[in-house]
Amino acid sequence: MKKHNFSAGPCILPQEVLKKASEAVINFNGLDLSLIEISHRSKDFIAVMDKAQELALEHLGLQNKGFKALFLQGGASSQFLNVAYNLLNKKAAYLNTGTWSSKAIKEAKLFGEVVEVASSKDANFNYIPKGYSIPSDIDYFHCTSNNTIFGTQLKEFPEVSAPLVCDMSSDIFSRVLDFSKFDIIYAGAQKNMGPAGTTLVVVKEAILGKIERAIPSMLDYRVHAEKDSMFNTPPVFAVYVSMLTLQWLKDLGGVSEIEKRNNAKAALIYNEIDRNPLFKGFAAKEDRSTMNATFNLVDEEAHKATFDALAKEAGLSGINGHRSVGGYRASMYNALPIESVQALVDVMQALEKQA
Ligand SMILES: *Cc1c(COP(=O)(O)O)cnc(C)c1O
Repeated sequence: MKKHNFSAGPCILPQEVLKKASEAVINFNGLDLSLIEISHRSKDFIAVMDKAQELALEHLGLQNKGFKALFLQGGASSQFLNVAYNLLNKKAAYLNTGTWSSKAIKEAKLFGEVVEVASSKDANFNYIPKGYSIPSDIDYFHCTSNNTIFGTQLKEFPEVSAPLVCDMSSDIFSRVLDFSKFDIIYAGAQKNMGPAGTTLVVVKEAILGKIERAIPSMLDYRVHAEKDSMFNTPPVFAVYVSMLTLQWLKDLGGVSEIEKRNNAKAALIYNEIDRNPLFKGFAAKEDRSTMNATFNLVDEEAHKATFDALAKEAGLSGINGHRSVGGYRASMYNALPIESVQALVDVMQALEKQA
């Protein structure tokens, strides 16, 4: 039996994408060559890169609006410093909503003054701070749209006059937003887009080139934009699988359709967390993530062993919470079917019956 894959990342990808990807590793486009043993400058691979960029912009509604979609390496974690390298002259403002925001802040401090406009660290990041003010004399404002570890998600984004930069690693392509409000959106592929190994950076070209420092080529967004992500050898396999996943998303109806499905999955699990007396949610209700649901047993000592055994028997995989939160985390990325969430809910109800 196939497992119900709730892994937080790398995570579930559509079965049909995995099948096509595995075929391309052996014989790509009928060339009798593998996707990963041909030149990245061959016309077959250039077509893949072009398509991946086109689909990424199309899903975000950003085609022909002055944005570039770059497929880079080094993970979202490299963007923590790349953003600052490319944009931070004097001062930047950051909203601290969790581990990933904190790491982004740490890197930016190497480049200039960082104002932390608000933080929910006081409550182990179980909510999204609101009503903070953002200084006006900043080079950019940075936030994290979905806090993968804590299970919180920004439902609204502040109005800022400075460039708006967002780490969307764990909820990109999961919901409709006005993406034209953002100036840089970045996301490691391995949570909603493809395998680990590439990071999508969508950048508004007009904000670049305003920095005084010299930027090494590999870290310079302008270089990658100019070369269409082909400045050096791109991670061909990761880009190909991302392209297939973006095409899969388009074929099923795009971001607005997947958002409906994601909302239905989230409603199913959160209703059960709230209804079942043996469980309690971790994140503040109004800030709950549709991607990562964090919850705990009310009485771990009494029920953990039984719950874990039932979950294993039902084929649930990857539901343990992150070590900084404990409890459980169900990651419900785009490719996770609602049947898997139902399987988890069934196990929660089976525990209640036994207890
Ligand atoms: C996973 C994650 C990261 C780190 O991504 P890497 O590709 O491992 O560097 C950064 N931000 C968020 C929100 C994440 O979920």
